[in-house]
Amino acid sequence: MLSVATMHSQTIVLVRILCADGIEGIGEAATIGGLSYGEESPEGIKLAIDAYIEPVLRTADAACVAGTMLDIQRAIVGNHFAKSAVETALLDAHGKRLGLPIDTFFGGRVRGRLPVAWTLASGNTESDINEAEKMLSARRHNIFKLKIGKRALADDIAHVAAIKLALGDRASVRVDVNQAWNEEVARRGIAMLADAGVDLVEQPISRANAKGMARLVSISRIAVMADESLHGPGDAFDLAALHASDVFAIKLEQSGGLFAAQRVAAVAHAAGLGVYGGTMLEGGVGTVASAHLFSTFPSLDWGTELFGPLLLTEEILAEPLDYSEFSLAIPTGPGLGIHLDEDKVAFLSRDRTTSLHPVAVTEGA
Ligand SMILES: [Mg+2]
Repeated sequence: MLSVATMHSQTIVLVRILCADGIEGIGEAATIGGLSYGEESPEGIKLAIDAYIEPVLRTADAACVAGTMLDIQRAIVGNHFAKSAVETALLDAHGKRLGLPIDTFFGGRVRGRLPVAWTLASGNTESDINEAEKMLSARRHNIFKLKIGKRALADDIAHVAAIKLALGDRASVRVDVNQAWNEEVARRGIAMLADAGVDLVEQPISRANAKGMARLVSISRIAVMADESLHGPGDAFDLAALHASDVFAIKLEQSGGLFAAQRVAAVAHAAGLGVYGGTMLEGGVGTVASAHLFSTFPSLDWGTELFGPLLLTEEILAEPLDYSEFSLAIPTGPGLGIHLDEDKVAFLSRDRTTSLHPVAVTEGA
């Protein structure tokens, strides 16, 4: 359960770009709960790519990724998720062409594994503690994010405080409010969360209230992170100028692609802000694209939440990703360094009459 939606399935837009030299690149777009979180839906993303981006690609030089994306930027406003998926596919193809992993195009990786948070979403305190204990024992996650904001403040704080008390110093406990509070509730809530030992609060108030975020940052004893507020480098600049967050949740799709997300990170680093690698609950393809970019950040103070593939009951990669030792290993092969399980992709495709979609447990970002 998110503050915005409960998801029982996930629809993934897989993009394949076949280049004139015979090399194919793959990319992915995914959203959270259709249109319940953001402004683009899987159906709309597919339409934007088929009707508007594909004609630009027909005359593009696939080996000139930045130039091709610039052509797309000039022809098409917005549509960050669609552009991100296409850019990922172009980078994957170019990496394969040159025999290099795509992190190379962003300066190269400075780490081979990324810390990965886990969302405790049952809403039941006992169940969430048990789940966290299992994750700690399995050495899979030691950063836990709780979705709050739907219930009365006192109930939410009691839930979070009990979980932090049970886990103690063995784990970082953070909350994501998904804009659910107003500024007055946030003032009280953040102080109570700090008293409970919570490390960070994500997007406590509306993305439209950047000055309110700045006021909260100025009085908060714990880190305040921007997520929904952050739709690319322009927003990053405005938030940094206002000091309206301590940490940026950097999401490839929300930023408008890997190049745009790199620029968001550059603003954070220039402003002395922390960075966190966010997710839109992508499957394996989008997750690995994110991982490659995050691996190049000079610092990644708050880790990542690249747990999307762990939520899906169907695996579409030929080789599952390595989640162990509280982290995700970043593939090392050319391009994204992954291969699709083509039979599984065909089986799950919407084009088939036996349409089935990967089923996700309740989660959120
Ligand atoms: Mg969030």
